[in-house]
Amino acid sequence: MSNLKLCQGTKCHTYNTQDRLKGSKENKTFQTRRRSSFYYGQGNFCSLNCQNDWFNDFGSKAIDHFGRLTEPKHLTEDNAWSKSYDYNGYRNLPDVYYYYNGVTKERRPLTEQQYNDSNYTLNTN
Ligand SMILES: [Zn+2]
Repeated sequence: MSNLKLCQGTKCHTYNTQDRLKGSKENKTFQTRRRSSFYYGQGNFCSLNCQNDWFNDFGSKAIDHFGRLTEPKHLTEDNAWSKSYDYNGYRNLPDVYYYYNGVTKERRPLTEQQYNDSNYTLNTN
């Protein structure tokens, strides 16, 4: 029981589904969902609805707490590389892996190993 997590959704208990209805016969209440794990919001919410409820109640405060953007961020050619590939399986040919720079439109070949290596990057920051 102690390993179970509670959904952090601020209105989770108000969604009256049968699985939230708990308690003995005369004492039933709809309760916040309790699970060993959740799929949403880094494991904090039982549903996207509950995640959105939390954000509607606390999102602006959280942004102010952790730092609101006051200037636009810039994606420059130094950090605009993204991995991609052309699927050629339908022609029985090997897939072609490449890095694509969204700013300069340059395309550089990648090996499949580099494509799958999450540490391999051309981006400098
Ligand atoms: Zn919930």
